[in-house]
Amino acid sequence: MKSITAFVALLSFILLSSPVAFTQDLIIQGGWLVQVEEGTAIENPGITIVAGKIHEIGNPSREDFPILRLEDQDYILPGLIDLHSHYHVRYNGVTKTDTVVTPKLFLANGVTTTFTAGDPNPELTLEFKHKVNRGGAIGPRILNSGPYFGSANSEWNRDFTKEDIYSIVDEWAEKGTNGFKAKGISYNQLKYLIERAHNYGLTVTAHLGSGAYGGVSSADAIELGIDRVEHFLGGEMLPGESGAYDEIANLNTQSEGVEDAMQDFIDHGVAFNATIGTYGGWSRSNDGAFDYWVDEYKYLTPFTAEFIKATDNEPQDIQPTIASVYAKKKILLKRYHEMGGRVTLGTDRPFYLDLNLGNYMNGFFIHREMDIMANAGISNADVLKIATINGAEAIGWGDRIGTIEVSKLADLMVIKGNPLNDIRNTRSVHTVIKGGVIFDSDEILKKAEGKLGPVSETEW
Ligand SMILES: [Zn+2]
Repeated sequence: MKSITAFVALLSFILLSSPVAFTQDLIIQGGWLVQVEEGTAIENPGITIVAGKIHEIGNPSREDFPILRLEDQDYILPGLIDLHSHYHVRYNGVTKTDTVVTPKLFLANGVTTTFTAGDPNPELTLEFKHKVNRGGAIGPRILNSGPYFGSANSEWNRDFTKEDIYSIVDEWAEKGTNGFKAKGISYNQLKYLIERAHNYGLTVTAHLGSGAYGGVSSADAIELGIDRVEHFLGGEMLPGESGAYDEIANLNTQSEGVEDAMQDFIDHGVAFNATIGTYGGWSRSNDGAFDYWVDEYKYLTPFTAEFIKATDNEPQDIQPTIASVYAKKKILLKRYHEMGGRVTLGTDRPFYLDLNLGNYMNGFFIHREMDIMANAGISNADVLKIATINGAEAIGWGDRIGTIEVSKLADLMVIKGNPLNDIRNTRSVHTVIKGGVIFDSDEILKKAEGKLGPVSETEW
């Protein structure tokens, strides 16, 4: 990543002198502006940012504003949106939320908004979200999901009644939670969650199974009015007789149920959060998306880096199944997209050292996810839409983020090279602006080095 091109002296001074910068009225000149809805790049007509929002595009008239002057190879895009983010690390059976490294890796990589789709430590995340919003810590905009609804939450009770579900939703909606995530939930409990969340204008997403063992299938969830579904389209395409991994791995993608299931999503406007790359990473796919373009291990503690290097190639019984899931998911994603289905982007990279899931780092992984989508046969222009405005709309923030438009929040990133020609150009992000605050990717990354994970077998 290259450093910021050119600043007026005032701006450089502000940036260097404060660890966490503050909102700055600003004009961005030069470079190219990527319009994700049109799938085009135009010469930047000048972007004026006032009080953290896009104030004007074209004819910058404020001569007293500092100018961020970009080079001809610079492309400005809306900040990326990760609708399935995780901030937690698990080692020796202990799960901890990381507010030091992970948020920096997200932001430095151009991810200006994350939705924590499954949060083992919701109180801490809520607190950290407020801290970031106050400018007290570096990180993306955190849209929190509150506690897991379902058996993924160790405090969950299968006998929770309608009143119980309503009161948990009420509690978290009042705390300012931005949406909800269910995993391992019963049909009735999902019904109560959805109806109560929608009362507050909040969305619900879920990790669902095949429908086997009395579980809720996506067809059930769609009928109940769910907003998004994570990982698998499921529904009519799966027999619902065994686990979802096995059924996807063995799926005949040409079968009739595949199209029926996709049509069900489309007819109800339900978004599919594809989380495709994590299956490639888990199964150690060797497609090019998983190459390293920077040394990601340098963000780990030396102990953690050694631990991962020592365990990385240990084969896991589940890997052949996951490899097949990954291959099938690519085929299904392309087909669903071509049918007009709503796709969003989620990375789903909990840092589980116990499960051999420490090989790829958050933040960087969003570029892999986009690369894989393009590889699966989705155009670069559509991948960029999926990574920005589609996510914004799916979480109910379409009027605030997702495109570079007047009156929206000034959340954007600057990269080298046209991403419409080569999606991997998004990896070259060097400057990120969130709510009008400018961040230099290299500077953020430097602060994240050597800190993620346990420092020894016993010390963390
Ligand atoms: Zn997840």
